[in-house]
Amino acid sequence: MGKCKYSDRCGGCAYMGMKYSEQLALKQQLVNKLIRPFGPVKPIIGMEKTYNYRNKVHGVVAQDKNGTVYSGIYEEKSHRVVKVNYCLLDDEKADEIMNTIVKLATSFKYKAYDEDKKRGFLRHILIRTAHNTGEVLVTLVVAEPLFPSKNNFVKALTKAHPEITSIVMNVNSRSTSMILGDREEVIYGKGYITDVLCGKRFKISSKSFYQINSLQTEILYKKAIEYADLTGKERILDAYSGIGTIGIIASDNAGEVNGVELNKDAVNDAKENLRLNNCKKVRYFLADAGEFMQQEAMHKVPYDVVFMDPPRAGSDVKFINSVAKLAPKKVVYISCSPETLARDLKLFKKKGYVMKECTPVDMFPWAGHVETVILMTRCGFEEK
Ligand code: SAH
Repeated sequence: MGKCKYSDRCGGCAYMGMKYSEQLALKQQLVNKLIRPFGPVKPIIGMEKTYNYRNKVHGVVAQDKNGTVYSGIYEEKSHRVVKVNYCLLDDEKADEIMNTIVKLATSFKYKAYDEDKKRGFLRHILIRTAHNTGEVLVTLVVAEPLFPSKNNFVKALTKAHPEITSIVMNVNSRSTSMILGDREEVIYGKGYITDVLCGKRFKISSKSFYQINSLQTEILYKKAIEYADLTGKERILDAYSGIGTIGIIASDNAGEVNGVELNKDAVNDAKENLRLNNCKKVRYFLADAGEFMQQEAMHKVPYDVVFMDPPRAGSDVKFINSVAKLAPKKVVYISCSPETLARDLKLFKKKGYVMKECTPVDMFPWAGHVETVILMTRCGFEEK
């Protein structure tokens, strides 16, 4: 892209300086190499506008010798914070808000947290913007819950950015590479944002997973649901369900949906999202997907379609074996790592599943990550 002055030190954009068409070709090549042995791979679906797609923006907070607070990123493979005022991938409004927060933090004389000395106050800033509703959630990660001049700070920030709909203080006092701590206090607004995706409303709180590229997510989910080819009667499993997006979107054309997710906040959001969308046919469970599926297999719950969307590490033997026992006709697997997808596909194949089609969707222009959605059917089961 050439326009980013931080790229040498950031390392976030693996495809810096490359034409977008070349980036897509490289991603396609990788998917072809790893996934084509299992079945046909469609052309990757790219983006028209490849900048400013990130709906979640993160800044590490640091301070220079003069006391000026700034935000930035960890230098690649180090703990030094490189000052960054903008990122070409970020939502522009979110970057503006980030810059205002550090300016205000300097004038309020807040200390940035120093990881080596384990001293200071402000650690991270997270900003989430809702693509369709315009709502904005700011999460301030602090080392201790004592927030000096909290009300004045909130007043100044929301005055500068009336578009902010909520501010949350997250307390993380541990020495850890995790950004967020467990304790949270809403200091302005309702404590979360609501966005609309594929016509459904979703509550998203600061600790829940939400896809960072909303435009491409709609394309990805539509493809996943198209692959499931639902008739309105199916019993569906939405595994690794996050805040319940896939299950709720698919539920209009399903008989019944169960979802399973390991993150407590995400499950709480998912339950709230059922109410928001008046979804009577969907239930969400807090559990490890493998454990849950093992129980379902023991009780012989007859699933017709399994949607699964695991993190980068992929799924596990327990989950895949249990799915195979219940023998749903279709498995739709959304993956953010072609490597672990290929590993899991091998096991599915052994268990009698065939990959019918794979579609890569580019969710991360300029970055090297590759997202795909695939359809598998059980051997011997042929689609109409
Ligand atoms: N389907 C959702 C979330 C996908 S991200 C969406 O599209 O938004 C993967 C999710 O898997 C995360 O929410 C993470 O908390 C969850 N997860 C990770 N390990 C898990 C496990 N062992 N069992 C169940 N859920 C898990």
